Amino acid sequence: MKELLNTLLEDVKNGHRLSEDEALLLLNVRDRRIWEIAAAADEMREERVGNAVTYVRNQNINVTNLCVNACGFCGFSKKPGDDGIYFHDRSEIQKKAALAKKREVTEICTVSGLHPDFNARSYCDVYRWICEAAPGVHLHAGNPMEVAYAARKSRMSTEEVLTLMKEAGLGSMCGTAAEILVDAVRKKICPQKVSTEEWVRIIREAHTLGIPTTATIMYGHCESVEDRVQHLSILRRIQDETQGFTEFVPLSFIHMNTPLFRQKLARAGATGREDFLMVAVARLYLDNFRNIQVSWVKEGIKMAQLSLIAGANDLGGTMFEESISKGAGAINTDYLDPAEMQRVAEDAGRTLKRRTTLYEII
Ligand code: SF4
Repeated sequence: MKELLNTLLEDVKNGHRLSEDEALLLLNVRDRRIWEIAAAADEMREERVGNAVTYVRNQNINVTNLCVNACGFCGFSKKPGDDGIYFHDRSEIQKKAALAKKREVTEICTVSGLHPDFNARSYCDVYRWICEAAPGVHLHAGNPMEVAYAARKSRMSTEEVLTLMKEAGLGSMCGTAAEILVDAVRKKICPQKVSTEEWVRIIREAHTLGIPTTATIMYGHCESVEDRVQHLSILRRIQDETQGFTEFVPLSFIHMNTPLFRQKLARAGATGREDFLMVAVARLYLDNFRNIQVSWVKEGIKMAQLSLIAGANDLGGTMFEESISKGAGAINTDYLDPAEMQRVAEDAGRTLKRRTTLYEII
């Protein structure tokens, strides 16, 4: 087994493209050989993107937490009548956007609950308001679920919705709502969400329309290792065709306040080994992605730092006002000072560089 692993990692370094079975083998490693996988991933990172650790100065604006869906892993959404519902109107959204601009962010992100009254126009209005109050700031918003929902509510095609969103100021779309791109798992964790096929179609449409997206995976709940590989394989195929993904972001399941965990339908999140290998194997398997981001919001800064020497090259955003992971029970999610990012990057022998959403160094 040791020899097999060494040969495989050597082959990958020499340009061999990992098969699904080989990715599975790597994700199943449980002993000190994970360091060898991490070392190979780190070398590949260095070769592909160099030694900089990047980050973006960004701010979230979540318009509402009211949602018609009830995903089992979500600790953020509220139903009518629940305590703690919020809905920001135009003036509040613009106040937040103006504050973001004052904080010198280059990116505003917005993803919200699926408000019962929202349609395509509502999303476009929000995008226009944000762009009006924060001119020049890149709008990273929406996801395939929101696009599908807007299309259904406005009786339009998803392509038409994406076109309208782009006209309203959408710069790039979040590749969230992917969770695990295996329908049997989606039925358990988010039965009302877009199917795998719809997610893939909407992402392809966005890329074709010149809207780049991120790619994500949410793992560590009730999926199998085979499901994770299946997911990575779908992402790699799309990227081969479109080159429209800016980065891959593994999102480790935050379990504490989620219905799925409370009902004992999910385990208590991924282990450290799994988090570490997800980054490393993603770097090795997704040979057509330049950027592998590690989420300090999901993993904490210490694990994020270790991921930087296991294939990751990006620390994500400063994230003023994070509330999705906080809703699920994560702590310290609101803001990470670039000075702290610099401290962990330099401690790992790397240089921190600020970037735009589309990875231009500022
Ligand atoms: S994950 Fe999104 S769509 Fe699902 S319940 Fe939460 S807010 Fe709604």
